[in-house]
Amino acid sequence: MEMGRTMPVELDKKRHAYYLKRILQVMPSKMAQYDSNRLMFAFFAISGLDVLNCLDMINETEKTAAIEWIYGRQVSNAGAKSGFQPSTMISDQTPDYQCGYLPMTYTGLATLLTLGDDLSRVDKKSIIEGVKACQNSNGCFMAMITDSECDMRFLYCACCVSAILDDWSGVDRARAIDYIIKSISYDGAMGQGPELESHGGSTFCAVASLYLMNELDRVLSNDQLERLRRWCLMRQNDGFQGRPGKPSDTCYSFWIGATLHLLNVANLTDPEENREFILSTQDNIIGGFSKFYDTHSDPLHTYLGLCGLSLLEYPELQSINAALNISSRAYAHLQEIHKNWKN
Ligand SMILES: [Zn+2]
Repeated sequence: MEMGRTMPVELDKKRHAYYLKRILQVMPSKMAQYDSNRLMFAFFAISGLDVLNCLDMINETEKTAAIEWIYGRQVSNAGAKSGFQPSTMISDQTPDYQCGYLPMTYTGLATLLTLGDDLSRVDKKSIIEGVKACQNSNGCFMAMITDSECDMRFLYCACCVSAILDDWSGVDRARAIDYIIKSISYDGAMGQGPELESHGGSTFCAVASLYLMNELDRVLSNDQLERLRRWCLMRQNDGFQGRPGKPSDTCYSFWIGATLHLLNVANLTDPEENREFILSTQDNIIGGFSKFYDTHSDPLHTYLGLCGLSLLEYPELQSINAALNISSRAYAHLQEIHKNWKN
């Protein structure tokens, strides 16, 4: 334990709720370089308030404003360029520069759901066209069509968008599965792509993608599943590490915790140690969670720390849908929307 930071025994719910509310209103100066990810931070803050059962801290006017702002990021009727773009920096006056970005399409849709929107203004056909355009011949997805970055994270985002819109026509599933299988490393877990080192984040993305495609138990053999489970279980120190030999980091209580949950072996971890580690990374002054107990809190580790605690069934927190990384309440709302689409 570091000096100067006392071990809190309980979750400081109120302080975290105010921290997340502040993220929505003003970007902390340390985060200024991330302006292009404003939609991502809105997702962490709004979903975080949801998991804390504090969504009522956003009043109706603010909710409406947030929903309008997110729809304002939608690029539709733009063929391969359709999707949600990250921030207001990309001028609305220059349509040529507008282009969907898969992580933003996913977080935009997830945030709309969390805010209770019915997705009626989502141009599903265009968005799916945009998803389809991002898939490479090797099965993986690029973040956007003008980007060369291509890895497991964006494949996962494509699966989330398809699951939320209940339309998989933008994903060549056989190729996507092939990419995931080829990304299984010698130690049994997944890297960002073939022949890359196993990592907690990419393993979550791979496993959750297979889960969303309803292929997890079909495409992996029992032996592969066992090796994968073992690799994930071995990542627990007190909290979880992302790779062998690394220190515990709050976000892996979600990345690895959720993976173990999807693999039905979360019961084989030590919940006490994990909970204590997550709680030790709370900032007792400004709120939020950090990756370790001696660093600054940030929106990502705050949201994923809360999700990690939710997976441990921490009292008074909303349960979460591990594969889509949204609350169970938001997921139930999505199921209602899907029912209406079918009628
Ligand atoms: Zn982290």
